[in-house]
Amino acid sequence: MSEIRVQVDFAVVGGGPAGLTAAVIAAEGGANVALIDFNARVGGQYWRHGAGEATPIGQHHTTELRSLIARLKPLVSSGRVRELLGQQVWNVAAPNSPSGAFSLRTTATTGTSDQGYCVEAQRLLVATGAYDRQLPIPGWTLPGVVAAGGAQALLKEHGYVVGKRIAVGGTGPFLLSVAAGLARAGAAVVSVCEYNSPLLWARTPIGIISQPGKAGEGAQYVGTFIHKRIPYLPRHVITEIHGSDHVTGVTIAKVGRNGTLFAHRTKQVDAVALGWGFTPQLELLEALGASMRVDSDGSLVARVDHTQRSSVPGLYVAGEATGVGGATKAMAEGEVAGLTVLHDVGLESRTSRVTQALKRVARANRFAHALHNASPLPANLETLIPDSVAVCRCEEVTAGVIRAATTELETATPRDGKITTRAGMGRCQGRECGLAVSCLSLGTDTRNWSIDALRPTQKRAIATPISLGALAELDLNSSSGKDNE
Ligand SMILES: Cc1cc2nc3c(=O)[nH]c(=O)nc-3n(C[C@H](O)[C@H](O)[C@H](O)COP(=O)(O)OP(=O)(O)OC[C@H]3O[C@@H](n4cnc5c(N)ncnc54)[C@H](O)[C@@H]3O)c2cc1C
Repeated sequence: MSEIRVQVDFAVVGGGPAGLTAAVIAAEGGANVALIDFNARVGGQYWRHGAGEATPIGQHHTTELRSLIARLKPLVSSGRVRELLGQQVWNVAAPNSPSGAFSLRTTATTGTSDQGYCVEAQRLLVATGAYDRQLPIPGWTLPGVVAAGGAQALLKEHGYVVGKRIAVGGTGPFLLSVAAGLARAGAAVVSVCEYNSPLLWARTPIGIISQPGKAGEGAQYVGTFIHKRIPYLPRHVITEIHGSDHVTGVTIAKVGRNGTLFAHRTKQVDAVALGWGFTPQLELLEALGASMRVDSDGSLVARVDHTQRSSVPGLYVAGEATGVGGATKAMAEGEVAGLTVLHDVGLESRTSRVTQALKRVARANRFAHALHNASPLPANLETLIPDSVAVCRCEEVTAGVIRAATTELETATPRDGKITTRAGMGRCQGRECGLAVSCLSLGTDTRNWSIDALRPTQKRAIATPISLGALAELDLNSSSGKDNE
């Protein structure tokens, strides 16, 4: 693998709503920026637009996206922004002296290129977003079962519909977006099973009214559900997925008090989309030793101050990585981060623009809190995740083995569970089973979850898998900064 060295004032990892906003603002203010993203186009998980002008089904905030892309273009042409797209950061090192730089190593994600970069940056924004949270149930490894975010991504980016008759299940308003999109694309969505009661939103009314735009989005979904005759089932859960070599059906149960399940019935489907919210992608922040906190949804998230500065000097964090709250929060935090970086490098003093952006962040955080309150994890996992279910599909570790380790071997944390059972030690490094292992080891009352207990589910020495060949070819001694172990 060949490697090109790039030196900039400010590197941004993640070209989603948070990173893209920050990169444009910082570059417009005079900073030299490198914008790095795994994908071939900017936009992140939220804006999955194709190469053409067409707006994908279910795309929101398109005006903001078009405006950001229009502002980005001249910055790229003038060289103020160096776009490193189709590149994944697999290693990051903090400056080893106050005047030193962050050092990031990337590899190409396209498969046809072996071009990597070594980016040295005085300041770094990590805006790496989030990934789907999963709870395994019988049949969840069958072909035809996808993560809700995965179904949405395939639809938005490729116009691909994951099935003809689809059941959607889990918790949170994202399920509405996924179901509405699939139905508008021609699929029959046979049910949307929401584990929680929508009345839980009333727990935090201030959070709902702080984002009036969400009401409009909600009304659109209601319209689609009525028009497409999509059955919305609150307090219902998919308990089993049937099929031998592909999904053929699901069992759905009603959720009673304390998570008891009853009134089971089956539906024929050829695809299932499951989602229990999202959790931040923190590998790079963990590698840099950034302080963390446990958010109200139980996710480990980066601790930042109100200007998006992390605990590591020169390191900023924005978007889902500071707490899952959606694209509006990500854009607002990206704006604050971009303005803070300009201030910190002495290019622009703080203005009323910062004040406005801070207000938007505060409103978005109130909504995020309401979202978490309305979408708690299931109370009773004994019936939902039976002992026989493979929780870690990479290492084929069942729920029974993890439970036995927790009770018989008294492994009290996901880390103990990982060491004794190998759950989370496979190729995905716990990205898929991390939530389930935490729930089985710690219980589902996330108020009892601690930073130390969750950290091992997020710590990955190499942020994304790269080939040993590519690693061997690198001259690691030539990199500046301190290498991670
Ligand atoms: C699969 C998926 C689909 C989603 N779809 C929607 C949707 O349709 N509607 C909605 O409201 N919300 C959706 N979300 C939720 C989404 O997380 C937020 O709404 C929003 O996109 C957050 O913006 P962000 O900038 O924080 O992160 P993102 O938009 O997730 O952007 C982060 C970017 O960082 C890049 N990245 C991460 N790690 C690296 C690395 N090591 N090297 C290089 N690049 C890296 C990723 O490729 C990504 O482009 C989705 C989430 C997921 C996981």
